[in-house]
Amino acid sequence: GREWHLVARPQGWPEASDFALREAPVNEPGQGRVLVRNLYFSVDPYMRGRMNDVKSYTPPFQLDRPMDGGAVGEVIASNADGIAVGDHVLHGKGWREYAEVPAEHAVKVDASIAPLSAYLGVLGMTGLTAYAGLFEVASFKEGDAVFVSGAAGAVGSQVGQMAKLKGASRVIGSAGSDEKVKLLTEEYGFDAAFNYKNGPVKDQLAEAAPDGIDVYFDNVGGEHLEAAISSFNVHGRATICGMIAQYNSTEPTPAPRNLALVIGKRLRLQGMLVGDHSALQPQFVDEVAGWLSSGALQYRETKVEGIEKGFDAFLGLLRGENTGKMIVSLDAD
Ligand code: NDP
Repeated sequence: GREWHLVARPQGWPEASDFALREAPVNEPGQGRVLVRNLYFSVDPYMRGRMNDVKSYTPPFQLDRPMDGGAVGEVIASNADGIAVGDHVLHGKGWREYAEVPAEHAVKVDASIAPLSAYLGVLGMTGLTAYAGLFEVASFKEGDAVFVSGAAGAVGSQVGQMAKLKGASRVIGSAGSDEKVKLLTEEYGFDAAFNYKNGPVKDQLAEAAPDGIDVYFDNVGGEHLEAAISSFNVHGRATICGMIAQYNSTEPTPAPRNLALVIGKRLRLQGMLVGDHSALQPQFVDEVAGWLSSGALQYRETKVEGIEKGFDAFLGLLRGENTGKMIVSLDAD
């Protein structure tokens, strides 16, 4: 089976020559393990950080080794109790066609509840990030005005809709194309949205939120965070979830220049890692599955076909070529 290796650490934007698709043997599963044929794997912004050789909350990818990440596939051989051939499982060995994994790292998923790819997105890691980041980290409450950046992406599109479903007074989103902005207001029920490439974020946000904002869900950092600090009402709360605007930066990026406003407005800026919120998982799945089946919650996925497109999919994600969750789908023959 083929698998993607990191062969050089990217400087700035990743390049095709930093990666290689290589052939690897497919082994029978060891004791207590299963062999999975991957059907979908996830490409995520946090993987850019793992390409650098720095200590972080996830270890760096190793050179000349397969990269990993979320994946869903079909069990084709099992040497473990409780998981049978034909079962579908979610596991952590993406970026490859075949994965041999310990049974305790494979979670069974049900294709009759949702399409299998949804377990990588709306019902998976990015969905839980939105849910936990809004309701737990930002302490969202009914009547809050909410601003979310990266609003047409996997996390952001869920944040905005969940805020509406729970009684936000106003939901504002920003995204990188007019088409995405249209999706937010016309299909996802955002009250206002703007294209951050069309003018200063600070001015566009002030116009979209004339009465200020109470919650900011930050997926982007930089100019967006500075604008949110300007628009915050007193006791505003920001979930600092991601700063994708700087993941490929080779120079230190300027801090929000207006950080002193945090004092007078008594703001709370709170970082989050989704892994801390696994206790919310059952409640999250329950509530989101309900919203999905009633049609109250919408989602999109951008599926890139074929393992050989893995790098293109990752680069496309960083460039904003996705709407909703970016997923690589493998030929299911
Ligand atoms: P998305 O589906 O949102 O895809 C990334 C999007 O980022 C692109 O589609 C693009 O959309 C946008 N983008 C790229 N460059 C810029 C830029 N310079 N300025 C503004 N927007 C940009 O990805 P996810 O939903 O998976 O992740 C969203 C964020 O959440 C990321 O920052 C990620 O690191 C973070 N995250 C954090 C987690 C945690 O536990 N802390 C867990 C999961 C995600 P556009 O066309 O609008 O520019």
